[in-house]
Amino acid sequence: MATMRSNLGIMKILHLKKRGCFLLKLLCLVALVLIFCEFLIYYVVIFQCHWPEVKIEAHRSSKQSSASVLKAMFLSDTHLLGEIKGHWLDKLRREWQMERAFQTALSLLVPDIVFILGDVFDEGKWSFSQAWADDVRRFQKMFRHPVCTELMVVVGNHDIGFHYEMTAYKLKRFAKVFNFTSGKLITRKGVNFVMVNSVALEGDGCTICSRAEAKLMKLSHKLNCSQQQEENHSKKRCSDVEQLPASEPILLQHYPLYRRNDAECAGEDSALPEEKNIPFKEKYDVLSREASQKLLWWFHPRLILSGHTHSACEVLHNGKIPEISVPSFSWRNRNNPSFIMGSITPTNFSLYKCFLPLESRVVTIYCIAGALLGVLILAHLQLLNPPFYFAQHLIRKHKAV
Ligand SMILES: [Zn+2]
Repeated sequence: MATMRSNLGIMKILHLKKRGCFLLKLLCLVALVLIFCEFLIYYVVIFQCHWPEVKIEAHRSSKQSSASVLKAMFLSDTHLLGEIKGHWLDKLRREWQMERAFQTALSLLVPDIVFILGDVFDEGKWSFSQAWADDVRRFQKMFRHPVCTELMVVVGNHDIGFHYEMTAYKLKRFAKVFNFTSGKLITRKGVNFVMVNSVALEGDGCTICSRAEAKLMKLSHKLNCSQQQEENHSKKRCSDVEQLPASEPILLQHYPLYRRNDAECAGEDSALPEEKNIPFKEKYDVLSREASQKLLWWFHPRLILSGHTHSACEVLHNGKIPEISVPSFSWRNRNNPSFIMGSITPTNFSLYKCFLPLESRVVTIYCIAGALLGVLILAHLQLLNPPFYFAQHLIRKHKAV
């Protein structure tokens, strides 16, 4: 009797051990899938991106090396959700994805400078000071960066409101965080970037608009002077102007320059076919024709990068000036977010688009893992008998009858 009882005890312990072992295996499987989908996948995907080759001019090549090529990263429309429209789970998910993508890109690609082309926040246009402070705090955590990488932010309509809701107060608080209001010129490794407040290019003479236009005209004068150093008459006109590298600038702004629609845009991340022919509204979807012409005339840029549409597009202005629409960096807006990597010298540039993990792929991995987990649990509980046992069970039943 005592031996039987001890045998029963041993069997019970063995059973518990077996169950514990099974649970541990399940936990390991869940942890592996989570680590892969939430962490490693960003490394696997971004590792495949590379800085594009750029031609270095022959007469400069003796002095120039790969170290003098500026490595710039451009992303747009992160739309960090606010307290009014943002559901906490949506917020948590999107911000985690963007943080992981950005931090992985920084560690693998080590850019010199990163530009965010506006609409950093979703509710900057109406948020009160407490919500604004909270959004800024989260942004600074997500987009933290080492000192060797600079981060510059262009203003977008969701940061300060469309023209009719833009106020000096909203612009000031944006400027306090990002040191940018109406226009800004940045020169790095001989490359000139002009950051434009495109929301203020309404052309109606409002105070903010006039200030922005005046600032841009001043910057344009500065840049033109640096490109006409040799001419005598310009020497006089430019005598009191700070010297800049004689390089055509790159324009960075939130609204794209005027284009009729996205019909000419191609590529897997361009607008949906049913949206491509919808005409763009001036001063809402794109800049007005007038403001676009002004920018081209003032700056003669060699490249323009813009955001706002959330989709990709490449257009040529005046037959020679390329504009790249940078799609949204948030999975909330796209299944296939991306960012642009640019290798830039004062005379040349080369761009490459780095796609981030597809959200649909991550969901598929989770679904397969979930199904596998279900099968393992059923098999363990012996509710999922192999066909052989199932047949044997039927025969036995038949005999008994
Ligand atoms: Zn926008």
